[in-house]
Amino acid sequence: MSAPDLIDTHAHLDFEQFEGDFDAALRRAREVGVNRVINVGTTLDRSRRSVEFANAYDTVYAAVGVHPHDADDVNDEVVAELKRLAADKRVVAVGEIGFDFHYDDGPDKTAQEDAFFAQSEVAVEAGLPVIVHSRDAEELSLEHLKEHADAAAADNPVRQEFGVVHCFTGSAGFAEAALGLGYLISFTAPITYPGNEALRDVVKKVPLEKIMVETDCPFLPPVDKRGKRNEPAFVVATAQAVADIKGVPLDEVAQATTANAVRLFGL
Ligand SMILES: [Zn+2]
Repeated sequence: MSAPDLIDTHAHLDFEQFEGDFDAALRRAREVGVNRVINVGTTLDRSRRSVEFANAYDTVYAAVGVHPHDADDVNDEVVAELKRLAADKRVVAVGEIGFDFHYDDGPDKTAQEDAFFAQSEVAVEAGLPVIVHSRDAEELSLEHLKEHADAAAADNPVRQEFGVVHCFTGSAGFAEAALGLGYLISFTAPITYPGNEALRDVVKKVPLEKIMVETDCPFLPPVDKRGKRNEPAFVVATAQAVADIKGVPLDEVAQATTANAVRLFGL
């Protein structure tokens, strides 16, 4: 059997955990059919590095953006620099941006809303989709997902998909609402964890033509690699879990999720 053709749509290969192992990690990924990787920025510095990687490697693409944890850093200067980076031809999305109220000491609601709004504008101006991080913030996320979709559609009436809710661990209702607003849903290895039956029910409900798969590495390894560093090669386990949940062959999941990523990110 030939290897499937998969894309890890959300990786952080610029993190310290991959120092000295970057080339080898990409090689191990290709060996199991993970032929392309989108490296996602979390700060301005990391966004810059993401763009450097994407320009150095044919199989790596970049997203640029500031994570909601660092929403307080998003000022005019940072936004101007993100705009400059977003114009690079290897940049395929603005992200990861969004809302996170998991930690009490994180940036407040206003700071997160301002950061999202400013980066939403960067995406609209560059004609790029957004990669959205949402944790303990479903209602607020939906409000701003709608606002972003409206702005992107006003700018380009042809566009029907506006981004992706990444590392999805939310409710079925949240998934359904995000789909209705024109967003895709990207799943990570937590769908392989035994305790996550509710999340597998969400996978069941989201149509294959709206699903992508990702590692969010170095975080969140699949169940059989728990305690280890995650890496792009392991996205196969998440694709296999989607296949098992939906009762279809892995190849069908690979074809669909890869086509979805190619379409959304214009690869
Ligand atoms: Zn991430």
